[in-house]
Amino acid sequence: MDGQFNDISATVEADRAHVWHHLFQHAALDHRDPRILVEGKGMTVWDQNGRDYLDAVSGGVWTVNVGYGRESIANAVRDQLLKMNYFAGSAGTIPAAQFAARLVEKTPGLSRVFFANSGSEANEKAFKMVRQIAHKHHGGKKWKILYRERDYHGTSLGAMAACGQEQRRDQYGPFPDGFVAVPHCLEYRAQWDDEDYGLRAANAIEEVILREGPDTVGAICLEPITAGGGVITPPAGYWERVQEICTKYDILIHMDEVVCGMGRTGEWFGYQHYGIKPDFVTTAKGLASGYAAISCLITTEEVFEKFRSDPDDPMSYFRDISTFGGCTAGPAAALENMRIIEDENLLANTNAMGDLLMDRLMELKDKHAVVGDVRGKGLFCGLELVADRATKEPLDEKLVEGVVGACDAEGVIIGKTSRSFKGFNNTLCLSPALIVGPSEITRITETIDRALAKLSA
Ligand code: PLP
Repeated sequence: MDGQFNDISATVEADRAHVWHHLFQHAALDHRDPRILVEGKGMTVWDQNGRDYLDAVSGGVWTVNVGYGRESIANAVRDQLLKMNYFAGSAGTIPAAQFAARLVEKTPGLSRVFFANSGSEANEKAFKMVRQIAHKHHGGKKWKILYRERDYHGTSLGAMAACGQEQRRDQYGPFPDGFVAVPHCLEYRAQWDDEDYGLRAANAIEEVILREGPDTVGAICLEPITAGGGVITPPAGYWERVQEICTKYDILIHMDEVVCGMGRTGEWFGYQHYGIKPDFVTTAKGLASGYAAISCLITTEEVFEKFRSDPDDPMSYFRDISTFGGCTAGPAAALENMRIIEDENLLANTNAMGDLLMDRLMELKDKHAVVGDVRGKGLFCGLELVADRATKEPLDEKLVEGVVGACDAEGVIIGKTSRSFKGFNNTLCLSPALIVGPSEITRITETIDRALAKLSA
């Protein structure tokens, strides 16, 4: 086997012949080679032809928060693997205990961490806890879980049951029962004409609760800012009212921080902008910036206590395991990732560079009629593209893809959200690493500027 892959063209052919890429229509490779990423440093990645790209989406899906090529994370993982690589999570390990303690410092009110591997899996753990609490503490009631149109919570069937995006969901059902949709809160695509839109959108959740019966609803799972569904920032007053409603009906709040977590929006977690008191927080992607697979479910002592041993019930504990949730590479990488965010003041940089990015995107909106709406917080921004500003008709998906392609041709990787709701798939997505500086922001926005200009040329 040695030497088989020394020639990069053999690797490219191996990829073409054997790798099934994620979220990818393989017919695209009938006329071109697959892209193989060979190296990364800072915010730059190189492909198999030595071509460099400025990555404005942190590994494509909001993940590489501290940038590529971090030796200190690689070293921390290497040292830990040589010392103790794995033991099942029924026992403890040093990096898991240390990281759990650091993580809960960032989430006041939450104190218990359950380790897993992916965002989907962490969300599934929370859903299972809600179901078990319903059985054990509510006489089988309060078993339903609310989710929101346009939100995404993962790829497994349970997580898909809570998915409000048609592109991810359609054709994969049937799904487990008891997951109920509430309306999305995107003011630009207003579903009501109330002046206080945040209040109206939150009250729509209460209407669903009353329709389903408050005694049947156990939890609501929400993204603080909807990511792949359109980079939807909540309208003013929305979260305050959501909190009130959940308190009133004794509904657990599950914040899916898989994208927003670990500084992406300028706070450690997105919900912290809005004064929400969550019962569950799930986090993955930026937790270890993609240097190792890790996700965490973080919860309260109150939830944890509901699962502590009951002498009359041998089934009372949380009967759940994630085999690779016992890998030590994840928490070792996550500890170093967190140290970097703190020592390099990356939350402050995210706020400063996020403001600059937002200013530049607003300038693009002033310049290009095709930009209907600009949304975002910190280094997590979206531009919704429209064919007509007055009617807000979404720009055709092929044209939106054309903008992404034109940026790519200039060596800047940007993203596009997925078909989420009633066909909307027209939002460009930007989420540079938290280390981004002004020169990279300029390059990203100037490249988008030229790509948008091509639309009207
Ligand atoms: N939750 C949100 C908000 C996401 O965006 C994603 C993935 O994009 C997930 C959950 C699922 O995470 P994973 O792909 O790690 O299972």
